Amino acid sequence: MRRILEPGQIEAFAEGAIPRLRLPERTTVFAARARRLRQQGAPGAPGQAIGAYLHLMAAVADAQQAALETCEPALPTATQLARSHTHGMPLIHAGSWPRERTWRALVGQMCAAVAAAGDVPPGAREACERLRALPPPQLEAQADALLAACADAIEVAAAPFLMAALQVYWVALASRLTPEQVVELEVSGLCPVCGTLPVASIVRADERSQGYRYLHCALCATEWHLVRITCSQCQGTANIAYHSIEGGAEAVRAESCDACHTYRKILYQEKDPNVEPVADDLASLALDLLMSEAGYHRGSGNPLLWQTPAERRAESLSAT
Ligand SMILES: [Zn+2]
Ligand SMILES: [Zn+2]
Repeated sequence: MRRILEPGQIEAFAEGAIPRLRLPERTTVFAARARRLRQQGAPGAPGQAIGAYLHLMAAVADAQQAALETCEPALPTATQLARSHTHGMPLIHAGSWPRERTWRALVGQMCAAVAAAGDVPPGAREACERLRALPPPQLEAQADALLAACADAIEVAAAPFLMAALQVYWVALASRLTPEQVVELEVSGLCPVCGTLPVASIVRADERSQGYRYLHCALCATEWHLVRITCSQCQGTANIAYHSIEGGAEAVRAESCDACHTYRKILYQEKDPNVEPVADDLASLALDLLMSEAGYHRGSGNPLLWQTPAERRAESLSAT
């Protein structure tokens, strides 16, 4: 017998079938990233050309995992939860969430990890020293600029380490939420937990989410579902194309849109079970070069690599 579903039932069915959200896994999120950064930066791997940088970021990711284990900021109150649901706003909005001052200690922990790592470029070491010496009001201002991606106010050399501290804080919050607490946003291009742009997308291969594509938040590592062959920037579905480096890894491609001329990387876990959005995006800079030459802009940057406004301008000029 054929069963006919009413529209409401179809929605309920779809919701049950596709996990809408994948909240970050507190015990493994940064450790997996560290492992992947080292793997991709090894001789012969795709990120070999920037291997030293990937190894430095792996040391930072290890420090993030260690810091996360003891980081327990206060979770949203009932009032904050209700407000988020009433207004359809991200629950822990990056730009407006009241950070507890304890987050600043995380900056010190990230900088200590850089100081302890071997083969650190002098620029990175000095950037960390400057960061540690910043008085709290300036540190808070730098964090605000980063979270708002306000390029002109960001000190780019220090930005990856500051961002690393903020990631720990936001993952500490996001990983203790339940999917029911998180509202579905009208705009599917932003993280429903913190309102940040995604770094890349990933087609998952595990049993729970097999074959479904998720956008991965650059700040809190939450993943939210987006149907495949859809632009993660403008949600257009026409003229989507996929690009890869000839002879390069099959697990990483760039998904471009001819309506808004942007692209983001898309990773395929079935081709490589170890893909990790932040690490693989960073390690595939050659693909960014290819896309820039083809006239496409990145949808958003990598949280562990910041460019000066002048570098951004040069890139956008070369892409037009
Ligand atoms: Zn987020
Ligand atoms: Zn688009």
